[in-house]
Amino acid sequence: ARDVAKIFRQGTGMFSAARHVRAVDGVSFAVPAGGCFGIVGESGCGKSTLARLILGLYPATSGDILVDGRRLADMGRRERARLIQPVFQDPFSSLNPRRRIRDIVGLPLAAQGVGGAEITSRVAAMLERVGLSAEMAGRLPAQLSGGQRQRVAIARALILRPRIVVCDEPTSALDVSVQAQILNLLAELRRDLGLTLLFISHNLAVVEHICDEVAVMYLGRVVEHAETDALFRAPAHPYTRALLASVLTPEPGRGIPDVGLGDTYPDPANIPPGCRFHPRCPIAVDACRTQVPQPRVLSGRTVECLLA
Ligand code: SF4
Ligand code: MG
Repeated sequence: ARDVAKIFRQGTGMFSAARHVRAVDGVSFAVPAGGCFGIVGESGCGKSTLARLILGLYPATSGDILVDGRRLADMGRRERARLIQPVFQDPFSSLNPRRRIRDIVGLPLAAQGVGGAEITSRVAAMLERVGLSAEMAGRLPAQLSGGQRQRVAIARALILRPRIVVCDEPTSALDVSVQAQILNLLAELRRDLGLTLLFISHNLAVVEHICDEVAVMYLGRVVEHAETDALFRAPAHPYTRALLASVLTPEPGRGIPDVGLGDTYPDPANIPPGCRFHPRCPIAVDACRTQVPQPRVLSGRTVECLLA
């Protein structure tokens, strides 16, 4: 991703001014082939918008997303589908309730012009690959459990043998015991198929489990990007620390103050001046209200904080 931005224009009423929501506000990162890259932040930070941009579901306002040096924007829909596939949060709403599993998983193949008999055999093999039995092909989504439905969504994502899978909160709608099974399945598929994973979550504990690197997003920016171990061992941005404090039990000596973020996420149509985190930052100084922190590289990580 190279300086990617997405601005939504809302409110076109005659008497109300249009709002410009800077959902993604200049994001850059690189993911090595076969890597697992986590994107973390509270709801409203732009992570799902970023996922949809990478999936080509809508165009970026500016900047580029490239795979092997080729712009996604220059590829056709079919080519993009063979390269990048999604797994979304809620397998209940993302699977058509009136279609049988065979047709749901086989749809991407049908869209590429593959014939019926081949679809049936490839779907059966893929269902087994994700830990389901081939006879589930004849069932409807409502006849499956939440975890089974998410396995179906993963089978559908993998049926074209894509190189990249973008998972947006793939386990958030599932019971805790099932979450671990799905995370383990994704890790195993990544290893066996050489997949590159983008893993989007509001929960840092989930990405710690599976990702090599993590980018922390706040109001459309990546405020810290580091290897997962380094991020958890020594978070450099006050926002990363606050997020970590919210998922970890306080451990003396770990250097993570208990920072309460509160419930109210700021309005992405009204980004604070200076450092966009300053209204919630527990260590803000005067300069933070006026100076925009630039990304700085500090011992292998990138941080946007004046005091880091
Ligand atoms: Fe906090 Fe200032 Fe750093 Fe922003 S620049 S995160 S307000 S200390
Ligand atoms: Mg989301």
